[in-house]
Amino acid sequence: MASDFVIVYHRQPYEEVEEDGKITFRENSSPNGIVPTLKSFFGKADHGAWIAWKLADDPANPDFERVVEIEDAHGSYAVSRLPLTAEQVRSFYHVTSKEAFWPILHSFKEKYNYDPVDWPTFREVNWAFAEAAAREADRGAKVWVHDYNLWLVPGYLRQMRPDLTISFFHHTPFPSADLFNVLPWRKEIVESLLTCDVVGFHIPRYAANFVSVARSLLDVRVKERVPVEEELISEGTALSERSAPTLLSYAGRDVAISSSAVGVAVDFIEDRANDPEVKARAAGIRSDMGDSKLILSVGRTDYTKGGLEQMESFERVLENNPELRGKVRLMHVSVSANRAMTAYEGIQAGIEETAGRINGRFGTLEWQPIALISRAIAFDDLIKYYLAADVAWITPLADGMNLVCKEYVASRTDCDGVLVLSEFAGAAVELNSAVITNPFSQRSMDQAILHALSMEQAERQERMSALRKMVKRFSVEAWGASQDLAFEQAAARKQITD
Ligand code: UDP
Repeated sequence: MASDFVIVYHRQPYEEVEEDGKITFRENSSPNGIVPTLKSFFGKADHGAWIAWKLADDPANPDFERVVEIEDAHGSYAVSRLPLTAEQVRSFYHVTSKEAFWPILHSFKEKYNYDPVDWPTFREVNWAFAEAAAREADRGAKVWVHDYNLWLVPGYLRQMRPDLTISFFHHTPFPSADLFNVLPWRKEIVESLLTCDVVGFHIPRYAANFVSVARSLLDVRVKERVPVEEELISEGTALSERSAPTLLSYAGRDVAISSSAVGVAVDFIEDRANDPEVKARAAGIRSDMGDSKLILSVGRTDYTKGGLEQMESFERVLENNPELRGKVRLMHVSVSANRAMTAYEGIQAGIEETAGRINGRFGTLEWQPIALISRAIAFDDLIKYYLAADVAWITPLADGMNLVCKEYVASRTDCDGVLVLSEFAGAAVELNSAVITNPFSQRSMDQAILHALSMEQAERQERMSALRKMVKRFSVEAWGASQDLAFEQAAARKQITD
């Protein structure tokens, strides 16, 4: 059945579980994140389709179930799974996306590795995604492509189906031309993106970087600034960081460059945080802590997340402030990436070593300064730590948005707790009432965590109340509405010009 709304996102929208030899599909265990929001778009469609990949030993195997029809609370949609071999996944995802694109997107030029990239495979996989989307899409359908590993999809799709309205959203930062243009495939990537009707980013700075990259490479004209709905624009200082989307013109086509920050499902998180059992578990953690303070740090084990720099700051703080020893604990959740991925080699070991050194240096039989957790914690458990933590210490060196900090704020219905946030997280644009820190400065890092630990209740409440206002206003639903609007505007523009 043809679909009027197609999502192209490399991961499947559910978990496949095998029970008694039978495969069943289950909602992803994390109800958070953007997947439920993306699926909610199917509710407005007659029929939706989701294109993802699935590992196949033999892609030619006729038993491989390519399309699965799903009927759930979100609507009815087809999940079209591209059968990729382990070698294709390694090359397109683990190597090209993670070793070449990821470091450049996050401004880590020194980590960029060009040698193992097999560009023909990257093209081939992106072509296959585009073909699947073209197969599923009805005439004039809306197609929404996500993230850098699918950069070439819009260009291929446009060749196959000029009738479609195509929008592309970047979930990562987008760097300046000095960095982006390091990629030898820069022109091919940007030309593909410029065949979209909308190209979206989290914050205006990334959108502005994209515009300058495009102008540095191609004959792109900035046509006009398009007005957006008043309620989608931020307030206060954050206003300077937000702007109406820009309309570019390239090769006879218009493309809107927009920025809208992904948020979290505030109502859902508040609900969980107000659950008496969750509250009781949080109170249990607090009482075990006695009068010590709990600092919580949560992120994937990735060099962009700044886990090592944070632990080193904690070590300096303990060294220079002996009165804090025995009085503060750092719970560091660093969820291990695929250890086999070259891009993450050594990072886990570095974190484990540093935590071991700090615990060895300062720990006693009664007190361990760092509790290091390397596995993922289920969201319901995570929320009890959010509730129990005196400080959430979120200091990535670069991060497209960062949802953990927003989840922490959303869960603090008690209007207490301190957020220390890196200025290099996209979320810092909205959450400027946090204690903002520069993770590249030892002094800034140490001062920020000391300030957070000694903050009086009145200041904590004032800051948290301002943060909660922003997190509620820029919820994941508000992001969904802004994307919807961008699609509508693009479809209307197409009707006029086509
Ligand atoms: N998360 C989780 N368990 C963990 C650590 C993280 O469920 O042990 C979730 C967290 O709640 C958040 C997401 O993983 O929704 C991480 O998103 P974020 O944008 O902060 O970082 P990303 O990993 O996407 O760069």
